[in-house]
Amino acid sequence: MFEQIDAGGDRNFSYLIADENIRAAAVVDPGYDTSKLEARVRALGLRVDYVLNTHTHHDHVAGNTVFHKGGAKLAAYRGARVKPDIDLDHGSVLQVGQQRIEVLFTPGHYLDSICLLVNGEHLITGDTLFVGCIGGSGFQGSSTEKQFHSLFQVILKLPDDVKVYPGHDYGPTPSSTVGHERTHNPFLRRTDFKDFVWLKAHWDEYKVEHGIP
Ligand SMILES: [Zn+2]
Repeated sequence: MFEQIDAGGDRNFSYLIADENIRAAAVVDPGYDTSKLEARVRALGLRVDYVLNTHTHHDHVAGNTVFHKGGAKLAAYRGARVKPDIDLDHGSVLQVGQQRIEVLFTPGHYLDSICLLVNGEHLITGDTLFVGCIGGSGFQGSSTEKQFHSLFQVILKLPDDVKVYPGHDYGPTPSSTVGHERTHNPFLRRTDFKDFVWLKAHWDEYKVEHGIP
């Protein structure tokens, strides 16, 4: 079971990954509003084994404490400021019953950004990749070079049919696929770093010019 759940904030998304046979679950990026995520966990009678953060910007970790209790373990990138119980690295795997969650280290938007590949099928991209757009890299702890590398050398190495589930509902649709983003996302069509940087600097004008809301 894999669900995308509204988490308040700035159109934030949380995710619920569960194996209903054994009633075990992982929650990803509990945000400012955890009511819908809590309601789903309760309605399905799930036990939360893992609380996962795609990165440690406040809107993605604000609701951690709601689920990080009892036997639940907090898992985030190695050394992340949330002080995870489980330090994740590129290639780490967490198992929730039959659900296999593989970690891809994708720094750039933030220094501890990771993506989560669930059963090789659903990719939770945090703020690294949005539908039709990408996350900003102008924060302290950001790196445009690293984000470029993460997008082209990590995410775009995945098969086209992998579904993309972003950290915010900023695009024309709440989810997408690697193939669709590869072809349609203006940033992923800038395979030259200079062009990529140019688009970041001129994104507002580009949007107006191309009628992107
Ligand atoms: Zn962020």
